[in-house]
Amino acid sequence: MLFAHDTEVALHAAAALVNTGRGGREDLPDVAALDRFVTDWKWTGDRARDAAELDGVRALRARLGAIWAMDADSAAELVNELLRERSALPQLVKHDGWDYHIHATSPEAPLADRMAVEAAMAFADVIRAGELARLRACAADDCDAVHVDLSKNRSRRFCSVTCANRVNVAAYRQRRASAS
Ligand SMILES: [Zn+2]
Ligand SMILES: [Zn+2]
Repeated sequence: MLFAHDTEVALHAAAALVNTGRGGREDLPDVAALDRFVTDWKWTGDRARDAAELDGVRALRARLGAIWAMDADSAAELVNELLRERSALPQLVKHDGWDYHIHATSPEAPLADRMAVEAAMAFADVIRAGELARLRACAADDCDAVHVDLSKNRSRRFCSVTCANRVNVAAYRQRRASAS
């Protein structure tokens, strides 16, 4: 394992959140879609389930997405900004069967604040470890999704199996065509 478990989960969750606004689609069109995202990624804590909460999460998504294209200095600046503006206060907690991990916001804080701070804490680990290059854009030309490469040999190139297959099949066809 490259990072602590909660950091790795938070990184994948941040990438998933960014990707809900990529690919020319809005995957968080309404509160019901946000409910599904929250359930899928096992977010706990209070929910408002209103338009303001949804807007807050969508606005955060664009800011988090920017870090995938940033150098360490800009990324550090964004992380500090997110932690400052959401008044992060790191605390060790145990809940819902999870062993000790860090929450830096209270369960009553707005969902977007909790998402922002959790992502920022995870990015802080990545930056401290000098591993920002693990935040990758999908290598498929026609895909703008992001992912986090936590593989041992830094070999993950695609956001999903779907993209990997599509590109591999296209490359295979091209080889066949040029061979014949
Ligand atoms: Zn937790
Ligand atoms: Zn992709």
